[in-house]
Parts: sequence; structure tokens; C-alpha cells
Amino acid sequence: MRKSLVVGNWKMNGTLASAEALALGVAAGLSSSSADVAVCAPYVFLPRLHEILKDTKLALGAQNIADKESGAFTGEISATMLSEMGCKYALVGHSERRTYYGDSNASVAARFCQAQSKGIVPILCIGETLEQREQDQTFAVIDEQLQAVIDLAGIAAFAGAVIAYEPVWAIGTGRTATDDQAQEVHYYIRQYLASKDQSIADNMQILYGGSAKPDNAKGLFAMPDIDGGLIGGASLDADSFLQICRSV
Ligand code: PEP
Repeated sequence: MRKSLVVGNWKMNGTLASAEALALGVAAGLSSSSADVAVCAPYVFLPRLHEILKDTKLALGAQNIADKESGAFTGEISATMLSEMGCKYALVGHSERRTYYGDSNASVAARFCQAQSKGIVPILCIGETLEQREQDQTFAVIDEQLQAVIDLAGIAAFAGAVIAYEPVWAIGTGRTATDDQAQEVHYYIRQYLASKDQSIADNMQILYGGSAKPDNAKGLFAMPDIDGGLIGGASLDADSFLQICRSV
């Protein structure tokens, strides 16, 4: 039986004061959620959030992680630094990173490995653009994005990882994948992993992301291969996010 996981991605939003209030608001409402819950906050808020969330059930994550261990890489944040700030998770390969900052499949795979080298669970974000879906390339894109990590880290590394399927056309657009559309790709991802290692596939937490909200979360989370969600916009409001967390 896979445990559900709901992760908020705050992106580049808020102030230190609003981040504290949001984190405490979410943490205070978690006793009635059966899922594991985390928030991926902007880097500079992590030290303070680490302090105030210490004795709560809300875990902390980063929105990215460097693809190198340390050294002359101005502006990057290493796995060691994130681990010291109490990060349990790090997103790797979010579509905004791939689209706006050029994160390639190879660099995403390197980030995945860096996270694991310091005990941080990478949340590997994968998914197709609208154009790719319309050209029937969805599964080919998923294959490439998964295979780049398998090539570098090996299939065994997925035992300590999470996958988030996020169709790019659904992220921040208000256009959610239908329950069946999402389930179809989640099933495909699990079968792809199963072709390499059945037990890893069976235990893999595969989250859905893309305009998930309180009113559509229940249907998505009820699908057999959807194990929770990666939530952007709706994670910026404690009540909405908690409603989603309670929908698993
Ligand atoms: C995301 O950024 O990962 C995301 C799913 O965003 P939204 O929920 O706003 O579509």
C-alpha cells in the first residue's frame, strides 16, 4: 500500500512574513490529513521555516537543487546546504525550470543524484507540452525524461524518489487533466518502471500536478495510479491546500 503525499510548490511568491503565516496555518491543520505533506518554499525562507516547522508534521522541500556538489557555481544552492536547512524533498526538472532556465534531461538527472547523495528525496517532475500531446508524443517524452535519470542513477535509485507527472499544458493554466487523462499517463509511468523493476514500480509514489484544486482533487486522487499531488497556485492559501490534503 503506497502512502499518499501532497506537496505544495510556492514558486517565487510571498514575503518572509507571509511564508511563516502560511506554513504555520498549514501545519496547524494537518492532524486531520492521512497523507504526508510538504511545502517547497523559496530558498531564502528555508532557514526560518526549518526553525518554526521543527516539531510539526509539515515537511520542507526546495524547488530546485544544484547539479554539482560544490565549487565555483555562482547563484547555485547545493544538496549539502539544503540538507542543513532541513529539506526532506527537492523538486528536480519542474517544467518552469526546463522551459525558462534550460534544465535539460541530463542536468535534471544530475540534480536527482545530488539530492540523493545527501539524503534528500528528489521529486522528479516530468510531462509533455500541449504541442507534444497533440502530436501523440506524450509517451515518448515521458520515456526520455525517465530514461535520462535511469541512465545516470540506475533504476534502483527510484526506490528513494518521488515522480510528479505534470502535463505542462495544465500547469498554472486552470486547465486540469481529466481523471482519466492523468490516470492513463500515471499507469504508463508505472508500467515503464515495472519493465525494469516490478517492486520499485509497485512502491513508487506518482503525484499529479497541474491546476489541482479543492474541487477536482478528490477525483484525481481516487485514480488507482495517482498517489497524491504537486500543487502550485492552490498551495498559496492554507485552507485550499488543506482541503486538497484531506482529499486523499
Ligand atoms: C506546479 O507548479 O507544479 C503546479 C502544478 O502548478 P499549478 O497547481 O498552479 O498548476
